[in-house]
Amino acid sequence: MNKPFSAMDMARENVQLLTPYMSARRLGGNGDVWLNANEYPQAPDFAFTDRNLNRYPECQPADVINRYAAYAGVNPDQVIAGRGADESIELLIRAFCEPGQDAVMYCPPTYGMYSVSAETFGIPQKIVPTLDGWQLDLDSIAANLHGVKLLYVCHPNNPTGNPVREQDLRYLFEIVNNRALIVIDEAYIEFCPQFSVASWLKEYPNLVILRTLSKAFALAGLRCGFTLSSPEIINVLMKVIAPYPLSSPVAAIAAQALLPEGIEVMRERVAENCRNRQMLCDELSKLPLTETIFPSETNYILVRFRESERVFRSLWNDGIILRDQRRQRGLDDCLRITIGTRAECLRVIAAIATLKMP
Ligand code: PMP
Repeated sequence: MNKPFSAMDMARENVQLLTPYMSARRLGGNGDVWLNANEYPQAPDFAFTDRNLNRYPECQPADVINRYAAYAGVNPDQVIAGRGADESIELLIRAFCEPGQDAVMYCPPTYGMYSVSAETFGIPQKIVPTLDGWQLDLDSIAANLHGVKLLYVCHPNNPTGNPVREQDLRYLFEIVNNRALIVIDEAYIEFCPQFSVASWLKEYPNLVILRTLSKAFALAGLRCGFTLSSPEIINVLMKVIAPYPLSSPVAAIAAQALLPEGIEVMRERVAENCRNRQMLCDELSKLPLTETIFPSETNYILVRFRESERVFRSLWNDGIILRDQRRQRGLDDCLRITIGTRAECLRVIAAIATLKMP
């Protein structure tokens, strides 16, 4: 008897064992108020008139790189662009981690793709949970650094919304002492630019910063992100990046978004988003089902609810889709709410207000 073909049996062992990242889109839902992916709630308007789609694009389009470098305050040779910050997370593993040998470290509760990317490539993971207020456990990090090549720190952290203390980040560079790359994921930094460590690139050759156009630039559908680092590290990444990581339409739209007018509009969006966040927090704090609203410097808030299941399900049934964080370490009864338009925030408040305490 011939053995039937099984794709799963053929897959690499760690891929067979892998639990894929459940993105908001994969989780589905049937809503009209989407507050589960930390997207910007309104679509920006861009012109795209490229007539040369028969040609391959530039690998690293000069307009995009130069404008991003100017925006971030670094030199163009310190920037590499790709298909979102998610691609950067993976690119670093591909370039720097010897499978089965070098480890990555991260500090949960945090963004899920550090783990999924490491697992995909068979890279061991050292997991050092955060302490109170989701700050780094520096002693435990120091004690577990052996074999670590990449240390991912999400700053401000997703899903908790807090920045990491500056003195702790400084101390991290001391204890790592150039033995690993420290990757600071600044996906949400536009919502709190005062916390960016981009100016530290001058001091630390092992600092890598991840950025994206998916959040404050309102371009999650574009799939465009950036890695900032030393020219040496960028050169290594250039060896393993795909030949054409940005399609021509992506490059054309990213270049427009990074013009001074585009950056100005982004800053206005951030201000509006922060006002809505304040209003949402003020109103939620008056509701009896709200237990704790954790302080956030981002375009989302993490909230611990009494009867979180009822809150999540009722809003889901009303077409208001939040992100369930209850399975993450230390986040019992916590839901993450992306800051939507003012009208969307008011829908959330009204929907929770109608749920009576039993
Ligand atoms: N890092 C963090 C902390 C994120 O929340 C996200 C988006 N969910 C990413 C990286 C990936 O962003 P991108 O859309 O640029 O791939």
